[in-house]
Amino acid sequence: MIKFLDLQKINAQYADELKQVAAEVIDSGWYLLGERVKQFESGLEALQEGGNAIAVANGLDALRLIFKAYIELGLMQEGDEVIVPANTYIASVLAITDNKLAPILVEPDLNTFNLDFNLIESRITSKTKAIMVVHLYGRVCWNAELEALAKRHNLKIIEDNAQAIGARWNGIRTGNLGDAAGFSFYPGKNLGALGDSGAVTAKDDELAKTIRTLANYGSAQKYVNQYQGLNSRMDEIQAAFLNVKLPYVDKEIACRREIADYYIENIKNPNIILPEKVTDEEHVWHLFVIRTSKRDELQTYLTENGIHTLIHYPIPLHKQSCYLDLNNLVLPLTEQIHQEVLSLPMSPVMSKGEIIRVVEILKKFKI
Ligand SMILES: *Cc1c(COP(=O)(O)O)cnc(C)c1O
Repeated sequence: MIKFLDLQKINAQYADELKQVAAEVIDSGWYLLGERVKQFESGLEALQEGGNAIAVANGLDALRLIFKAYIELGLMQEGDEVIVPANTYIASVLAITDNKLAPILVEPDLNTFNLDFNLIESRITSKTKAIMVVHLYGRVCWNAELEALAKRHNLKIIEDNAQAIGARWNGIRTGNLGDAAGFSFYPGKNLGALGDSGAVTAKDDELAKTIRTLANYGSAQKYVNQYQGLNSRMDEIQAAFLNVKLPYVDKEIACRREIADYYIENIKNPNIILPEKVTDEEHVWHLFVIRTSKRDELQTYLTENGIHTLIHYPIPLHKQSCYLDLNNLVLPLTEQIHQEVLSLPMSPVMSKGEIIRVVEILKKFKI
C-alpha cells in the first residue's frame, strides 16, 4: 500500500534526536512554560523573519485566541462578522463562532480552492471586523487588492496558516502577511509535533501580549488573573520535538514541490482536473488535491490498486449538524468541491518508485 502520508517514515528520519530530547525533558523535571518553548518561539520568529510568536496547545486554540484577544482589547464584540471561505476546514469557523462572532461564508475560486477575492467586498457590512484567509492545501491566499480592501474598510486580516507554514507571497512568509495568524503542528501538518500543538504569530506587540496572557489562564503574573482565559500552552516535550524538526521544514517542502511537479507534468487523464501550477514560493503542497466528477469511483479504483487517498473534506461545514443555522445556505461551488476532490499521496519521504506508480495507475483510470 502506498500511504497517503507516511508519518512513521517522516519521523524515523529524526528518531535518534527525538528520543534524545524526550529523555532530556523527562529528566529535566520541567514540563511547561520552560526554555524549550521559548527556544521554539524564537525559532519560529526566525523562520518567519519577524513578528511575535506565541506557542499554544493546538491550531484551533491559536485561531480562537486571536479573536478572543481582539474582543478583550475592545476591537471586536459579540455579533460582529468575520468573512471566511466556505470550503475551509471546520476549525477556521469554530474559532469564530466559539467567540460568538458571526461567520460570513464566501465561495472559493474553483481554480485556486481559495477565497474568491471578487466576492468579498459585497459581503462587507457595518458589522464586519475581519477577513480570515485560509491558505488551503498549502497555497497562498493573498493579493495586493485584498490588502487594500481591508485597509479601506478598516478590517483585520487573520490568516489560518495551519496548512501553509513555509509558503511566501512576494518573499514574505504566510503568517506575516496579515495582522495575526494561527499555525497548527498537528502530527500530519507540514511541521508536525508528536501530538497536539500550535502557535500564533502577531505583528502588534500589544495583541501578542494579550494572546500570551489569555493562553495562560488570563494571567501574566502568577495568581493574578486579568482576563477569563484558557489553558492553552505548548508542552515542553512537544516544543523539544519541534525544535528538532523546525530546521528541516524548507527541505521537506522542497521534496513536496518535487512530487507536485512530477504529478502535474505526468498525470495525463482527461477525467482528472489537476491543481494549478503556481510559483514555488506560493505553494507548500500540504495536500495535492485533484478533482473529478467520478470521485468515489476513482478513490475505490486507487484503493484496489494499493494507493491510499483521503478527501479534504467530505461534508461542507454549512451542511454539518453542528451548524443548523447555516444548513440552508446555498453555496454551489463549495458543494461541488466537496463532491469532487480527492487528495493524492503526498509525503516528503515518498520514493521515486511510489510517485511513478501513483502516476501510472492514475493515467489508466477510465470513467
Ligand atoms: C489543522 C487545521 C486547523 C486546526 O489545527 P489543530 O492543531 O488540529 O487544532 C485549523 N485550520 C486548518 C485549515 C487546518 O488544516
